[in-house]
Amino acid sequence: MSVAEEMRKLKERAMSCTDCDLHKTRTQVVFGEGNPEAKIVFVGEGPGENEDREGRPFVGRAGRLLNQVLEEIGLKREEVWITNVIKCRACTIDKDGRVKNRPPRVGEVNACKKWLDAELKLIKPTVIVCLGNPAANLLIHKGFKMLEERGRWFESSPYAPFIMATLHPAFVLRQKGEAFERARADLVNDLLEAKRKAESTDKRGGSQLTLF
Ligand code: SF4
Repeated sequence: MSVAEEMRKLKERAMSCTDCDLHKTRTQVVFGEGNPEAKIVFVGEGPGENEDREGRPFVGRAGRLLNQVLEEIGLKREEVWITNVIKCRACTIDKDGRVKNRPPRVGEVNACKKWLDAELKLIKPTVIVCLGNPAANLLIHKGFKMLEERGRWFESSPYAPFIMATLHPAFVLRQKGEAFERARADLVNDLLEAKRKAESTDKRGGSQLTLF
């Protein structure tokens, strides 16, 4: 069975998952998308309102920024794999029926990590880029410090020879003025570095010159 076919079957199973309480409030499961044989995988925290509605990861404002940055460094969404730590929107509903995003709980992340684990084992990427602290805490190490460790390569992941973390596009969008420009530049530089690393390394971690 091809990797694409295996990924399709994995997604099919994930779409009906009820292994944590988030299934009660989601509109739909938001599985990863892109190239199932990608050399680069991006991992965010979880779907928000737009993603929950559309059933695709990174389609809101943060997703548009990610698309722009990928385009600036010469990558297309279809070439990479984009996914999240959890596949259903984590939210609270107040007594007036207003829905607000919240960070996923430890139990929810633990229940959901089997899907991310299976995605990454199928793809076998060369490079993983964690977008924001939650993904970095799960995939690099607990207590990840974005200020100090952003953009640094780690080689201890069972999923890929190289893994790093950078700013989540939603965090970049919350910055104002010069802070926004600095954060955006950091994001661009880190993603460019990730692209270079993937281009110069084969899937087993050795050097190669072939590009995408
Ligand atoms: S968040 Fe993950 S574990 Fe929880 S219901 Fe959704 S797919 Fe299943």
